Amino acid sequence: MIDSAPHLMPKDTGWIEVITGCMFSGKTEELIRRLRRAQIAKQKVKIFKPLIDTRYSESSIVSHNDQSLPSIQIKDIKDVLKLSEDSQVIGIDEAQFFSDEIVNICNELADTGKRVIVVGLDQDYRGIPFEPIPHLLAIAEYITKSLAICVECGNPADKTQRKTTSSERVIVGTSDIYEARCRKCHYIPEEV
Ligand code: ZN
Repeated sequence: MIDSAPHLMPKDTGWIEVITGCMFSGKTEELIRRLRRAQIAKQKVKIFKPLIDTRYSESSIVSHNDQSLPSIQIKDIKDVLKLSEDSQVIGIDEAQFFSDEIVNICNELADTGKRVIVVGLDQDYRGIPFEPIPHLLAIAEYITKSLAICVECGNPADKTQRKTTSSERVIVGTSDIYEARCRKCHYIPEEV
């Protein structure tokens, strides 16, 4: 992990880092860790998250272990371009809630010399690849897949188990609706 960790500061270039995995795998925690280190290095950091995600806080990204950093909520991923002109490091949390346009936006930001750190779920609650993250994985320089712990058996977990029977792809919630499961313990809930 440390060997493949990106250099702190881009030198005349930008790049894309993707942190992905299921819910409760520590993705936002890892994003906060990287952004804090950039701030210590006196780099200009900006953090964005989709307007849909109102869990815990309106104006911060907050990990499940209560770490937080101030963030800007946006509806349209294109807004990142004008809002981050003076930033060197850009964090984007809950990227699965943005449109596929995020792929072009991240490329554009990296092409103009910025370090872009994108965080999101790689699979939906059925275990099906969840765009745009699979696409972002293909164009990123650095990829981190974080695993959670299966609440049933204790094995490493990369699936998000939904505990309700709704078939909507997106239901915003936390441990009241979701838990982490390994592939052996994960199942697709019967839809009503
Ligand atoms: Zn399990």
